[in-house]
Amino acid sequence: MNDRPLKLLFVSTSVGALGSGLGGGVELTLYNMAKSLIKQGHTLQTIAPEGSVLKGVDIVEIPGNLQITAQSQDRQTPIGLPENSVLENMWDRARQIQGDFDLIYNFAYDWLPLYLTPFFDRPVVHLVSMGSLNAAMDRIVTQTMARFPGRVSFYTHAQAATFGSVENYPCVGQGLDLSLYQFCAEPGPELGWVGRIAPEKGLEDAIAAVDKLGVPLKIWGKMQDESYWEEVRQAYPDAPVEYAGFLPTEKLQQELGRTRGLLMTPRWVEAFGNVAIEALACGVPVISYRRGGPTEIVRDGKTGWLVEPDRVEGLIEAIVRLPQIDRRACRQQAETEYSLFAMGERLEAWFHQVLSHYPDRIDPGT
Ligand code: UDP
Repeated sequence: MNDRPLKLLFVSTSVGALGSGLGGGVELTLYNMAKSLIKQGHTLQTIAPEGSVLKGVDIVEIPGNLQITAQSQDRQTPIGLPENSVLENMWDRARQIQGDFDLIYNFAYDWLPLYLTPFFDRPVVHLVSMGSLNAAMDRIVTQTMARFPGRVSFYTHAQAATFGSVENYPCVGQGLDLSLYQFCAEPGPELGWVGRIAPEKGLEDAIAAVDKLGVPLKIWGKMQDESYWEEVRQAYPDAPVEYAGFLPTEKLQQELGRTRGLLMTPRWVEAFGNVAIEALACGVPVISYRRGGPTEIVRDGKTGWLVEPDRVEGLIEAIVRLPQIDRRACRQQAETEYSLFAMGERLEAWFHQVLSHYPDRIDPGT
């Protein structure tokens, strides 16, 4: 019965409404996973904070105050909830309607949904969307993995390894609707940088590199930390950079496609790096620090360059060597590894595996 359509309940991130950009890459992940599963014939509902919009996805909007992002707190920060928490409200709704679904899929990087796993009648699976950041969160992730093998997934092995020597987890990666990303053979003179403007993204190194080379850099992304942005600008007042705001995918891919290369300069272990595959899909080579998710995406010397972390000189050398990369090879990699179909197949296989341990599956007709 592996091909029967499933009834799925997604529970979104609680740090921002879908479409706001506050959720970072997980917003695009959820959207693409929803699209791929709907395409394969499954039905799906998504519980998300009020104000969420995703074209073609059935959303149950839930009011309440947003969670503070884990990456803006330190390792020992106790787990917390604001008054009238949207996270609490979303999981309360999930509990009430769980009987209508085969499986519940959690996208929040937070302690509560992991803790709730054994208290639900329906199976709850999780996407851990960032590396290890908080001690209490690490503990609940590894405990849930031990108690419910195969229920906690990661984007990449590099990310999973930040939680210690974990094993037996699915790596579902990511997939894109490639029809939305146009291949651009003839780029302009600029380089690109895409991401939330926040310290863990290391924007200052990309700016330092273009400052030295005098190559223009265009920056797109959610302005998450304005004081950080001011600091970086003041450190390199004459750098040829332009902040071009946060764009919807359609616009972003148009602009990003025209760049000569994408710079990725994460200070943290980037769990995946959606922007890397979005760039590849447009034929844009990726220059990234050899750290976290991008090391499992970029083919060094073929679809970009991986350079020693935190070394601006390395970025400069890689920028100079960009013409050696064939932009067609970049698009080709996205097509073979990151299509929606490929991701949909990985998800289906995972869900069926989880459900095979549930004899009490709901009847398909109900
Ligand atoms: N993004 C966007 N518009 C922009 C800049 C970024 O939609 O102008 C999206 C981008 O497509 C990607 C996400 O923001 O999906 C950033 O995700 P990534 O995995 O690179 O990093 P995260 O923010 O999750 O750390």
